[in-house]
Amino acid sequence: MRKIVMKAFGKINLTLDVSGKRDDGFHELETLFRGIHLYDIVSLERRDRGIQLECDDEALPMGPENLAYEAAAVLMEDFPQVTGVNIQLVKRIPVAAGLAGGSTDAAAVLVGMNRLFGLDLTKVQMEDYAARIGSDVPFCLYPLSAVGRGRGERLTEAPEGPAMWIVLVKPPFGLSTGEIYEHLEQVAIDARPNLEEVLLGMETKDLERIYRNMGNVLEYSAFDLQPRLRDWERDLSVLRADRVMMTGSGPTLVAYFSDEEGARRLAAQWTQPRWDVLLSRTLSKAEVEDRMIFYEKTENEEE
Ligand code: ATP
Repeated sequence: MRKIVMKAFGKINLTLDVSGKRDDGFHELETLFRGIHLYDIVSLERRDRGIQLECDDEALPMGPENLAYEAAAVLMEDFPQVTGVNIQLVKRIPVAAGLAGGSTDAAAVLVGMNRLFGLDLTKVQMEDYAARIGSDVPFCLYPLSAVGRGRGERLTEAPEGPAMWIVLVKPPFGLSTGEIYEHLEQVAIDARPNLEEVLLGMETKDLERIYRNMGNVLEYSAFDLQPRLRDWERDLSVLRADRVMMTGSGPTLVAYFSDEEGARRLAAQWTQPRWDVLLSRTLSKAEVEDRMIFYEKTENEEE
């Protein structure tokens, strides 16, 4: 194969709980990831030598600090047949938003390069490379629905659940993931998500049961550092969202709806300058499996 173009989907967290700090400094997590229909476009092309990265968002690093570059570098180090690759990113997922934008680009590079260079990596090998790059990268290899434990990289498949319409509302600032986790130790956590109940709700496609038991403990930390987030969460609920909750370490707030119309109405009403307001929905299995947009064979490749 000569070239491959893929959709790299973002994620939200329907639950996120933290149970303590580990010896390596990371926190022990339990989270339910759900892939969403919002994607970056990742194009990969064979190249004689080295990694070259281009991206339409000039504020992002174009070298080894870019997670997509890092993914290519780890494969190049281990596989001599990977001589070089040209990576092009079209960013549509807001950056530093809790939507796994960088992680999903890295995962798409791993999946794409595996095909491009015929590496035949197993699922376990792919997950291993992914976990070396970042905690959210393994989920992004197959971004449908899964529980993540450990740092979020130890995955168990979860039911797809009912379709949910969502509006992603990101204020014009980022939050530092490190700071959010650090600050968590200073705040009291009143309520935690009930993962078992949410999973039963997913299994029986019972939205009410899911909404009632969802939760993200990082809200306690984020809302303490940025109290306006709490006000905005309330304002969004008043606009008739079924549920509003922060995703990941924020600052994106997710407003949930069972129907498209309610979500569209809210998206049209939230007109704050410089905010990202994006209408989206949960992904289906067919969409995850159909994420390759285009590929081109090399001249001597057989049909
Ligand atoms: P997560 O939900 O996985 O914690 P996030 O959505 O909060 O991630 P990202 O969008 O991945 O955050 O960006 C976090 C940081 O990673 C940014 O500061 C950015 O500079 C850096 N980064 C590196 N590579 C990329 C990339 N390909 N796309 C976006 N950000 C990237």
